[in-house]
Amino acid sequence: MKLLEERIQRDGMVKAGNILKVDSFLNHQMDVDLFDRMGQEFKRLFADAPINKILTIEASGIGIACVVAQSFHVPVVFAKKTQSLNIDGEVYSSKVTSFTHQRVYDIIVSKKFLSPEDHILIIDDFLANGCAVTGLMELIRAAGATLEGVGIAVEKGFQTGGQQLRDMGIRLESLAIVEAMDDTTGKITFREQPHQN
Ligand code: 5GP
Repeated sequence: MKLLEERIQRDGMVKAGNILKVDSFLNHQMDVDLFDRMGQEFKRLFADAPINKILTIEASGIGIACVVAQSFHVPVVFAKKTQSLNIDGEVYSSKVTSFTHQRVYDIIVSKKFLSPEDHILIIDDFLANGCAVTGLMELIRAAGATLEGVGIAVEKGFQTGGQQLRDMGIRLESLAIVEAMDDTTGKITFREQPHQN
């Protein structure tokens, strides 16, 4: 999505450790007009999928997921990060290794909000090694729901998550795929995606 790529070029900052900082418009301060355009693009890309629910993970996925959900006119459920001790039979749970914080935590969703009737679109801000998305997929599987696809704002194409999901046959649309980035020069290059606006 050209608009998002231009914004990343303008306001994104490449940090050491393969971190792209986009906190002035995506995951700290949030540009909801940009989110709205992203929501419309996801709606166009997944137009033929019978999506009735969006699933994301707290915290930084929630803002984007809510605006995307407006384009689909469906509810959003977010997986909560929690301590293992609190987990009981009322929730679906799985484990996620945090890319940014380098630790493992449990994520949960109440059984009330995921069911076999659900057709889910996963939305998140970043895709790196794919742990967050894989954890969400595990919740969907446990609930017997159907995964329709995964929508990501920024995929780091030089990390393994995107390739793994595509190899599994999962329908993945990332609005910007960073092919390479350099924390000394700040240079960012994107993968061409001719089917996107
Ligand atoms: P994964 O689970 O795919 O390895 O990493 C995805 C999660 O880590 C996202 O939910 C996002 O919050 C965080 N993340 C991964 N890479 C980056 C990055 O370069 N910048 C920021 N801001 N967050 C990232």
